[in-house]
Amino acid sequence: MGPEIRNCQNCKKDFTIEPEDFVFYERIKMPPPTFCPDCRCVRRMSWRNERSLYRRKSLNDKDVITCFSPESGINVYDRDMWWSDAWDPLSYGVEYDFEKSFFGQYRELLNKVPMPALFLSRATNSDYCNHTGEAKNSYLSHACWGIEDSNYVSKCGNVKDSEDSLNVTDSELVYEGSSSEKIAHSFYIQNSENCTNSAFLYQCKGCNDCFGCTNLRGKSYHIFNQPYSKEEYGRKLLELDLGSYRNVLRVKEEFEKLKLKAIRKYANTYKVENTTGDNVGEASNCKACFDFWGGIRDCKFCINGGVRLSDSYDGYGIGETSELIYESVDTGLNGTKFFFDIFVWGGHNVQYSYASHGCQNIFACVALRNKQYCILNKQYTKEEYEALVPQIIEHMNTMPYIDKLGRVYKYGEFFPPELSPFSYNETIAQEYFPLTKEQALVQGYKWRDPDTKQYTVTKQPQDLPDHIKDTPDSILEEVIGCLHAQENHHTANCEASCVTAFKLIPAELQFYKRMNLSLPRLCPNCRHYERLAERNPLRLWTRGCMCDKPNHSHQGGCPNQFETSYAPDRPEIVYCESCYNSEVV
Ligand SMILES: [Zn+2]
Ligand SMILES: [Zn+2]
Ligand SMILES: [Zn+2]
Ligand SMILES: [Zn+2]
Repeated sequence: MGPEIRNCQNCKKDFTIEPEDFVFYERIKMPPPTFCPDCRCVRRMSWRNERSLYRRKSLNDKDVITCFSPESGINVYDRDMWWSDAWDPLSYGVEYDFEKSFFGQYRELLNKVPMPALFLSRATNSDYCNHTGEAKNSYLSHACWGIEDSNYVSKCGNVKDSEDSLNVTDSELVYEGSSSEKIAHSFYIQNSENCTNSAFLYQCKGCNDCFGCTNLRGKSYHIFNQPYSKEEYGRKLLELDLGSYRNVLRVKEEFEKLKLKAIRKYANTYKVENTTGDNVGEASNCKACFDFWGGIRDCKFCINGGVRLSDSYDGYGIGETSELIYESVDTGLNGTKFFFDIFVWGGHNVQYSYASHGCQNIFACVALRNKQYCILNKQYTKEEYEALVPQIIEHMNTMPYIDKLGRVYKYGEFFPPELSPFSYNETIAQEYFPLTKEQALVQGYKWRDPDTKQYTVTKQPQDLPDHIKDTPDSILEEVIGCLHAQENHHTANCEASCVTAFKLIPAELQFYKRMNLSLPRLCPNCRHYERLAERNPLRLWTRGCMCDKPNHSHQGGCPNQFETSYAPDRPEIVYCESCYNSEVV
């Protein structure tokens, strides 16, 4: 079978289904998708809320922090209760009704079965973290694994004593790090690895004591890519003092200019073979994967996660020794054949299920543990189950769910966004594919107007002391206005998420003082969106290498083509791997 062009049900643009894709769909006995890859990605993301948290009463009358808003229609239990055996999710089981659509019935079940207040496991003193595991003494850190004493970090793994970072792994004492690994005692670090005692680095490897540098390998005592003696470096560093907010702004501006001149590798990849995407490592034969690493093979359209995952398509936060995952979110951990699942760990042949762990052969279930042969939380025998599932699949095709914009959801589609417990702007869809309220509503997504803020700002950001050394501990009592909100200065991306004012927590202030770093002027959400804006989008374009160096093997311009997350109209200088490696040694 050759490639086929289809028209996306959602955005009405054409997309291509490749022969390799048909082989995969055939293997898992799935009809080919009717949404294009981007629209499928957004649809999955519309079911994952990492950062919008609410105070509510749980069903068992506890005060909890939860990612399910009061108007989500979802009942929650606190974490200990939810994971305990004190309640029976099968008691909510219902018979499948062939008079109603499958997805409508599923949402009715979701309204009844309690969900955990937060998606947080093996956590100590980290009650405000969501979609996070193995966390200790951490605050507002989401989508992380193995974090300790770290605040406001997101999508990080094995990180200690760090603040305000995105996509950083195996690191400690990092501030404002992004897409980097093995970093120690360093601040404002992007796309770098194995660096210590440094600040403002971009695409550097193995550097110590460097400041404001790009594309350096194994260097020490460099400032803005110029070498200094150890003594001169020390003297210069005192002048560059990052304890002062004014200095930080000045350095940032200079660093941005330097970054624009720096050549870029077409993608941030390491140890990859026949692979496309960005921030991908230890991968073979993976296509269009982002933030995905660790012995992955034959995966496509997967974002965030990986680690010994194979033969999987269309996932966010999936992996950990699993195979044959399709259209799923936060799913894996020794699993096989997981289709259309959210927060499903361990098991086999689980379809259209939410928050169900260690189950085999279940269909359309919520919050089950170690069960078999269940449909809509009702227990069947093996024979009954095997007879009923094909009938339901047929019914999904003859009586599909049709959403209010007329999109048709048969078997083989992920859950419709309009049935999600979350509004578009509560979810990670807003982080990667930001929309205004008007755009979101036109496209049929839900929108939640932020709660009217109760804060009375007691300190304008302009009135904060310039230097951290002049900052009294009484600052912890102040409600600091977010600079973006004060100056009405939002980027299009952060406007919907700004919490307008913030307080510092003691651990954070300690960190700034110990590391000699100036106080932030933005609320945690605006800080997060600023880091997101710095990174490339989760999209690929085919482009050519921009190199025309006369000393390379090519004559004239380099003829190499690649897929890159740098859109064609961007100003950066983008090189193929071999030209990049010839220039950066
Ligand atoms: Zn589309
Ligand atoms: Zn803000
Ligand atoms: Zn080239
Ligand atoms: Zn070249």
